[in-house]
Amino acid sequence: MLYLVATPIGNLGDISARAIETLKRADYILCEDTRTSKVLLDYYNIDKKCVSYHKYNEKEKCQAIVQDISDGKEVALISDAGTPGISDPGNVIVRALIDHNLPMSVVPGPSALINAFVLSGMSAPFTFIGFLPERGKERHDLLNRLSSSTFTTIYYVSPHKINDFFVDVYNAFGDRAVSVARELTKKFEEVTHCTLAGGYTGVVKGEFVVCVEGAKIDNNAIADETIVSELRELVEGGLSKKEAVATICQRYNLKKNYVYNLSLNI
Ligand code: SAM
Repeated sequence: MLYLVATPIGNLGDISARAIETLKRADYILCEDTRTSKVLLDYYNIDKKCVSYHKYNEKEKCQAIVQDISDGKEVALISDAGTPGISDPGNVIVRALIDHNLPMSVVPGPSALINAFVLSGMSAPFTFIGFLPERGKERHDLLNRLSSSTFTTIYYVSPHKINDFFVDVYNAFGDRAVSVARELTKKFEEVTHCTLAGGYTGVVKGEFVVCVEGAKIDNNAIADETIVSELRELVEGGLSKKEAVATICQRYNLKKNYVYNLSLNI
């Protein structure tokens, strides 16, 4: 069995009892960086063999891990912070275990994107992007594709790239509301609410997650008849009028008053 164990993103207290128990019980622990993980493992008196598993060796390590799990071993995987597999090594071994029909499970816990999204005050649905491609066509094309999405988009951004991020996203999206979460769960945690046009003027140090509001849909772009017919469908499906209005507002990013007035037709 492989356990993908979530670990703190800053505050060492943010780990579950089951995560500690799983790490203590495992035959060995795969660590993104054994030195980084040692701090956490020492803090919780977990004295266990650690094997390095990072993006440069994950492919070559896979075969041995697959073999161990086939042999019935319990293996835990942790990354430097947060949930393994989210912009962290983990995806390759998960794929390999799916291919070999072997068991795995996540021991859940922190992930920076969740804290940042909650603190942004922006609405779901959201799309998690993680790190943007560094530069060039790939970055440009991805931003262009995202520019028409009405979903909130969430990015991991290194501190030295935060200013470029604002410039490039503004060029692709135009002006939007932004929420910059820095040093989540740590002593200097802060969230700055600003705009792409205004840029980020806060402290450029530490770790960042940036949420960008989705594109607004022009109320005139969707026919009123479509809205009324979808409202009717939702109400016939069992939602109250109020719930149906809220669902349509979220679905198309429309103003509540506008949809409420249309709902008077059903
Ligand atoms: N797997 C991790 C997770 O579940 O959040 C993410 C790992 S990714 C390699 C590291 C990036 O996550 C950082 O560059 C930063 O963008 C974000 N991050 C991690 N910890 C953070 C924190 N405490 N505050 C803000 N951002 C954080």
